[in-house]
Amino acid sequence: MGRPSTARCPRCGSKVTWDENSPYRPFCSERCHLIDLGAWLSEEHSIPGEDAIVPAQQDAENLREN
Ligand SMILES: [Zn+2]
Repeated sequence: MGRPSTARCPRCGSKVTWDENSPYRPFCSERCHLIDLGAWLSEEHSIPGEDAIVPAQQDAENLREN
């Protein structure tokens, strides 16, 4: 025990430390990860699931009373 697990990046063959410090494992980096998925992904590399917050309608009604 005590030796960190390592793996080989499927893209470039670099050693990858197999722990939470390597979020793109088994790839060595985000670059290799994206290359493997397809270069087109890098253009749509956005965070999904963020809903836009719609302003409450009450604000508009308060303004109208003033
Ligand atoms: Zn790599």
